[in-house]
Amino acid sequence: MTKKIARFKKTPDAYVSTTNACKLCKPMGACLAFRGIEGCVPYLHGSQGCATYMRRYTISHFREPMDIASSSLGEKHAVYGGGPNLKKGILNVIDKYGANMVGIATTCLTETIGDDLPMLLQEFHVEMKEAEVTLPILVNVSTPSYSGTHMEGFHATVRAVADQLADQQEPPTGSLPTSFVNLLPGLVSPGDIRHLKDILADFGIASVILPDISDTLDGAPQVEYQKIPPGGTPVAHIRNMGNAAATLEFGRTHILTGDTGGQLLAERFGVPHYPLGMPIGLQECDRFFEALATASNRPIPDKHQQERGRLVDAYVDGHKYISGKKAIVYGEEDLVVAMTSFLSEIGIKPVLCASGGNSGYLQEAIATATGDILSEPPLVEDNVDFYEIADKAKSLEPDLLIGNSKGFALARQLEIPIIRVGFPIHDRFGAQRILHLGYRGTQNLFDQIVNAVIAKKQTDSPVGYSYL
Ligand code: SF4
Repeated sequence: MTKKIARFKKTPDAYVSTTNACKLCKPMGACLAFRGIEGCVPYLHGSQGCATYMRRYTISHFREPMDIASSSLGEKHAVYGGGPNLKKGILNVIDKYGANMVGIATTCLTETIGDDLPMLLQEFHVEMKEAEVTLPILVNVSTPSYSGTHMEGFHATVRAVADQLADQQEPPTGSLPTSFVNLLPGLVSPGDIRHLKDILADFGIASVILPDISDTLDGAPQVEYQKIPPGGTPVAHIRNMGNAAATLEFGRTHILTGDTGGQLLAERFGVPHYPLGMPIGLQECDRFFEALATASNRPIPDKHQQERGRLVDAYVDGHKYISGKKAIVYGEEDLVVAMTSFLSEIGIKPVLCASGGNSGYLQEAIATATGDILSEPPLVEDNVDFYEIADKAKSLEPDLLIGNSKGFALARQLEIPIIRVGFPIHDRFGAQRILHLGYRGTQNLFDQIVNAVIAKKQTDSPVGYSYL
């Protein structure tokens, strides 16, 4: 017995599972993206537990009903395959929801048992044609959670939608003018999407924003419950994406993968591609606004010049409170990159940039986004969980944490403030309306950070400052 234990202990590099992940499940990202398409019902090809977990998570953040259909697989299907249940489930969705589109994502289970979703759907199309049943649009995406994050599921879905639906309709249909741009913003808040729409309108740019969760995940109450909430990117607009004058796409790590929706539209239809960082902070916002000025052939509207000016003024006013403070930033890779760039320009030292994502591009993207602003590069860790982040935090002695609400326990342990950004935020109200993007979103984040530092100083002080 003793010998056995000794031998086990000697095993080098024993695999340690992630116990407090800094990422979420891949098909959850797919469901969020599908939810931003008009008339679309997200559908998981897997067991009911996955759909229940994702609904619970999503509702807690967005405070909106979130229906996710499922093929409800059990043990039997894990052995014999989930095809029959997939087809029955889709017919149920057609019957109960009258959906215009069903967005189907795989789960860990169906990927592991090897269900060939495209083949099953092809078979289903033939069977339904023979039965003279008209099917809605069916889009499918492969999202095994053991090989990616919710953000990768989100991006894979945007790409799959562009791949399976986008075309070059002549002339453009579905209320689109002849000249428009595509905007692929990634997973940002409904409040951010509304702000992006306003910015584009101020430049006089018509757009197809894919996906558009501004109403579907933050809508007004309806007199009667709507099984499918109003809003989302119209399918007719998606079909026209190959006609766009340009595609603007956010996400510095995402773009480095070389496999994005914008890149697909460029390769297939020759739509000029403008890869950009998420517009948070002066530098990244300037790049975004310059791209809009180029795309529209118009100067940056005075309203936005004024917002930029107020932001610069705030940087000057707030500098004395935050200069030299140290921050840990964690969460989705592209948000971490954007926040790191922003912190660098306001004089906060990012001491650890961490993500549960594992694209392999986080370090490179941070180096590109921060350029030569930082005198020393931050510690960058990808593929980590919260135990690893906490472990590093002990020696780094940060003054604040910036990320989703899953970092709250660590912030409490370290007795430092946490600035809640991104997804998920389960312990505060209004997560769906947090504005992160543009000069206005940056202003919002900057004020929060400065006030968190002031509040901490005030709370810790025996003097009890009432004037800082
Ligand atoms: S089993 Fe896989 S797909 Fe289902 S909830 Fe868990 S991680 Fe997500």
